[in-house]
Amino acid sequence: MRLPIADCRLPIGRSCLLLLLIAVSITFVPPGQIAHAAPTVREFTLGFSGQGRPIQVVRVGDGPRKLVVVGDTHGAPEANTYQLVIELIGYFRAHPDAVPPGVRLYLIPSLNPDGLALGTRFDGESIDLNRNMNTDLDSCTENDWSLTVQGARGIVSDTGGPYPDSQTESRIIRAFLLDAAGAIFIHSNAGMVFPAFCEYAPSITMAQIYASGAGYAYHRYWPNYNITGGMSDWAGSMGIAAITPELVTGNSSEYEQNLAGLQAVLAGAETILPLPEDGAVEGVAVPAAIYRYWRALGGRERFGPPLESARTAADGVTQVFTNVVLQLRGDQADTPYYVQPAPTGRGAAESLAFGGAAARTPGDPASAPVFFPETGHGIKEAFLDFWRRGGGVDVFGLPISEEFTGRASDGQTRMMQYFERAVLTYNAGDGTVRLEPLGMRQYMLEALMLPVAPQTVR
Ligand SMILES: [Zn+2]
Repeated sequence: MRLPIADCRLPIGRSCLLLLLIAVSITFVPPGQIAHAAPTVREFTLGFSGQGRPIQVVRVGDGPRKLVVVGDTHGAPEANTYQLVIELIGYFRAHPDAVPPGVRLYLIPSLNPDGLALGTRFDGESIDLNRNMNTDLDSCTENDWSLTVQGARGIVSDTGGPYPDSQTESRIIRAFLLDAAGAIFIHSNAGMVFPAFCEYAPSITMAQIYASGAGYAYHRYWPNYNITGGMSDWAGSMGIAAITPELVTGNSSEYEQNLAGLQAVLAGAETILPLPEDGAVEGVAVPAAIYRYWRALGGRERFGPPLESARTAADGVTQVFTNVVLQLRGDQADTPYYVQPAPTGRGAAESLAFGGAAARTPGDPASAPVFFPETGHGIKEAFLDFWRRGGGVDVFGLPISEEFTGRASDGQTRMMQYFERAVLTYNAGDGTVRLEPLGMRQYMLEALMLPVAPQTVR
């Protein structure tokens, strides 16, 4: 089954919810399997590449430990890893019982369908997707993101991307792994298995077990050069057990070996794959997936600390931070929108918080390099740069006003703009953009209006 969810970039609308509910409720029972005994098998589209090609996933099982196998990050030259994951999917469709009850296994044949189609290692914008992640979050500096990278055969090139997580595919995998326990990024063809660079025991254990199961060499480090912006390193920094198996050849799927490696990991899943751990910020507990989102997208500097404990409601978990209200939404599980900021910017715009009466003026498509007919407003200059680098529409939503001169929370008169999930403010003094404290604003409004239902932002 293939279902487009591209229309769900802002999964607030009912049609998107409906599509997603259909996507997760259709279950495939392979021939010969007994429905009530076998783990469920589902195929769905995780998202779309930069050039609009679907990134497919097959999910097997329903256990708490999410293990994700990612094939073909490096496109056409590593097409044998695509072939391998296709063959693994065939195996687990026929033998869903091979996934133990504690695990749910996800198999992504190609994270880089553009590179596969275009005959290149890079994505459709000539960026190396395994050099584009924000690997500055761990305690190691050698693997920090860099525009200039080393690649296959040690070739140096400026293919790390304009900034960390700049590529659509990078942001999709970043979001999809927020609740993962383990991730296996398959490449070719150096013939070895190695764990995430920075010290992290679960990655090391998983790499050793996979290597021994597959009959591949185990190396503690990629021996050839420092990989910057690598997916495995990013995942490791999030507390995910993360490894890179490199096939020995460039043209064979090496199916038997890798099936054995994967089976060895599955057999030891209870000990190899640690469940995602809750975080603590200033003594306040933060649920695991929300904590990873908060860290991965900017942490305290961007979002501020939590103002209270997380609240659980029927539709998910919500936690208020100074600048954002983060929601973990059960109805968005298995999509890149599992964790998302609440649309607090809408309420601020409706009540013209911070001033901004002129903000309701319709925008002129010719006045901004990026214009959204959906809302009739564009983004430009410093706000556009901040919006893009910070995660774009998924994090801040669409612009719902023009720029306006308002009274910022620091009492100063500044250039501002309303977005669905944020209000941006420009500091002309140092050229920086920051988020207005909409989490704090909601917190105060709710305090004034008590008693109040937990979800009042919409
Ligand atoms: Zn590769």
